[in-house]
Amino acid sequence: MIAPAKRANTIDLIGNTPLVLLMGPSEAAGCEIWGKCEFANPGGSVKDRAALWIIRDAEARGELKPGGTVVEGTAGNTGIGIALVANALGYKTVIVMPDNQSREKMDTLRALGAELVLVPPTKFADCNHFVHTSRRLAEETEGAVWANQFDNTANRKAHIEGTAKELWEQLEGRIDGFTCAAGTGGTIAGVGMGLKELDEKVVVALTDPHGAALYNYYAHGELKAEGSSVAEGIGQGRITGNLEGAPIDTQFRISDEEGLQWVSRLLREEGLCLGLSSGINVAGAVELGKQLVAEGRDNPRVATILCDIGFRYLSSLYNPAWLQQKGLPVFDWLSD
Ligand code: PMP
Repeated sequence: MIAPAKRANTIDLIGNTPLVLLMGPSEAAGCEIWGKCEFANPGGSVKDRAALWIIRDAEARGELKPGGTVVEGTAGNTGIGIALVANALGYKTVIVMPDNQSREKMDTLRALGAELVLVPPTKFADCNHFVHTSRRLAEETEGAVWANQFDNTANRKAHIEGTAKELWEQLEGRIDGFTCAAGTGGTIAGVGMGLKELDEKVVVALTDPHGAALYNYYAHGELKAEGSSVAEGIGQGRITGNLEGAPIDTQFRISDEEGLQWVSRLLREEGLCLGLSSGINVAGAVELGKQLVAEGRDNPRVATILCDIGFRYLSSLYNPAWLQQKGLPVFDWLSD
């Protein structure tokens, strides 16, 4: 039996997530594919880690004082992480979010007591983009700090010090490849840097959804987006502060259809209910596994991130009408 963990407070529930061997993906790749269960964080996503490190960093720099406010622009998961950590440490939370994100994330943020500001989805260059709006709100609010997850490298530090070291320990120091998609880039850059410090032979691959510009950047040196994706929380068009210096060795581009196929299989065959970014990550991990096998690595082991819990998407990914409206295949068990 695996010993159940005991923690002294809510904050200590963040991180130290379990790692699970994914059967279908391992079979498809011909080697071990492991999923880091970030949905097991108290806020249900990988972003609890960044939220905690960003808030601790603001406290350490003396910017965030007792009773202060944390303001952030987010697709949702970072906001949920910030709201939880802020509640546990006695801060207030203001979250700015594009109004096309999942209903469940908005309801969750309101339920957690965050003040929610919805803005129309716009390009980053637009001054009303959620990131710029959140910076302005932070500047205008007394006692507030701007979390700035895209360019604040306390975000990737969470993964250099946490996720990467945990993976290394959980896999007993034998890991050949790591891949995931980028939103802020904190996870791919931080885990990549942390693992390379431990073993420079670990292959770090970016898995990019369609509609993001990073695949072309790492493959051809040009930030250029092609196509589109409905995946929430991933798909970046610029080199964020967190992505600067990320040790990316290779890259894959994965469609929503491929990602959804893994979301569907992992749910039906392995009982894991996940969001689409996890499905896209798993598709990328299978590609990386196949590549390492083809290169002749002996029984390679690849790890990826299972970013968030699928229950957050009941009105979208798991809703036949929504899938049809987006022109995506409907899971067969939902189609009647
Ligand atoms: N998946 C989901 C569901 C997310 O919300 C995020 C964060 N935006 C990511 C993946 C990507 O994580 P990161 O910001 O560390 O690149």
